[in-house]
Order: sequence, then structure tokens, then C-alpha cells
Amino acid sequence: MQTLKFLFVLALSFSLTFLLPHSVRAELNPTVLVDIRSINPRIALDIRYATTNNFVKQKLYPQARCILRASVAQQLSQVQTDLETRGLGLKVYDCYRPLSVQKRLWEIKPDPDYVANPANGSRHNRGAAVDLTLVDRSGKELPMPTAFDEFGDRANRSYTNLPAQVLKNRQLLEDAMVRAGFIPLSTEWWHFDGRGWQNFSIRDVPFGAIASPPLNNSAPK
Ligand SMILES: [Zn+2]
Repeated sequence: MQTLKFLFVLALSFSLTFLLPHSVRAELNPTVLVDIRSINPRIALDIRYATTNNFVKQKLYPQARCILRASVAQQLSQVQTDLETRGLGLKVYDCYRPLSVQKRLWEIKPDPDYVANPANGSRHNRGAAVDLTLVDRSGKELPMPTAFDEFGDRANRSYTNLPAQVLKNRQLLEDAMVRAGFIPLSTEWWHFDGRGWQNFSIRDVPFGAIASPPLNNSAPK
């Protein structure tokens, strides 16, 4: 049923593509890979694989960008808008990850507890998964159970031996994401899959091949 609905939306957007001006085409095609800044530039970025501040201590992305399927990016934008009414926002650690980077990660750390085997691919390779946390109005991260990519029991959503405020923050993030249709991963408090992630194929498009938003792209009021 979900697949049928997806195919219908796909067919509809495909037909509309030919009727609309070029500027709005990208937004209507749910499968296209887009830069989150072209959808919602208010979402904060801390793309860890574009730095050495990650669990493999290596820079794996040439650019610090959050790229997602358009429909997933729009879902994420809804979460940001929803959180802003509470004086909060999102800070994203990772989005689309090209398959060749997944292979590189697997070479460095061939352990399925840490890295998805590139033979099966990660949901990040589909441009349908996002790793993120909550920030307050000043951009400061809210206390969460662990740091990003600190794998283990403490990162598990069922882990409860935590300060009340941390439990509250983790739940707040999960509730906001679920309201917009995201699916939480049980073993990592920071990871969520976009609605219909199964319908998106694994990709290896390099970041440089994906359009950047215009430089004068200012936040919508
Ligand atoms: Zn993830």
C-alpha cells in the first residue's frame, strides 16, 4: 500500500514536471537529492565526516553539507518549524553518505556494531536517514545521553539510567521527529529514517555533483 502510494506520488510529480517552470521542479520530485539549505537554511549543521571530529578521526567528506531526498528534506524542515515554536531547533551531524564513503568507513572499521556493511548499504547511502540533535535558541546543544556516534548501551533508546532532563530531551527529539513521519532507530538516539526510506535506492553520487543552494539564500521569515 505504502509502495503504491509512493508510486502514485512519483507518477504525479513526474507528470507535473513537464507543466511547471524549472525553479519549482526540484521541490516536487521527492526522489531528487537536495541540499537541506535550499529547503530550510535555519537547520544548523555540524557535519562530522567533513571534519576529523568523528569516531574514525578522518575527514571523509569534501564538503560540510547535509544532502537528502527532497521528500525527507521537507519532512526535516517541518520538524525545524515545529521545534521553533518551542524555542528549539535541529543540529544535523550526518545525512546522505555516498556508497564509496561507506566502503571507506568499512575499511577503517569493519565492525557491524559501528558501520553498516557496504554490501547491504546504509540508509544514509539512500539519502533517507539523518543523524541529529536538539539545540536551543542560541545554538547550544541540549544535553543528550551520549555524544554523537558514541555507540553502546547508553546510546540505546531503551536506556533509562540517565538524568531526568536528558531523558526529557531525548524524548522531545524523538516525538518531534515521529510527528513528521520519521522512524527512530532503537540503538542510536541520534538516528532517524525518513518515511518510505525503502523506496530510495543506494547511491554513489559525489557531493560535488549535487546542486548547492544560491549564496543569497536567506532564511524564510
Ligand atoms: Zn545514522
